[in-house]
Amino acid sequence: MAVPQNKVTRSRRNQRRSHDALVAGNPDECSNCGELKRPHHVCAACGHYDDREVVAQADEIDLDEDDAA
Ligand SMILES: [Zn+2]
Repeated sequence: MAVPQNKVTRSRRNQRRSHDALVAGNPDECSNCGELKRPHHVCAACGHYDDREVVAQADEIDLDEDDAA
């Protein structure tokens, strides 16, 4: 097994980790409902993309449709 030749000091370890922080996303406002959404993604709140509904929302689907045979 490979063994490190030298001890990595707290200082050097922390300098390496100085670039490890997570950065916040860059949310975009949905043009349909105004909810914040990921850029270039379908809006999770209303299912719209580019002012078009591309994902039907669950509350708009009638699950207990009685006239369906
Ligand atoms: Zn939306």
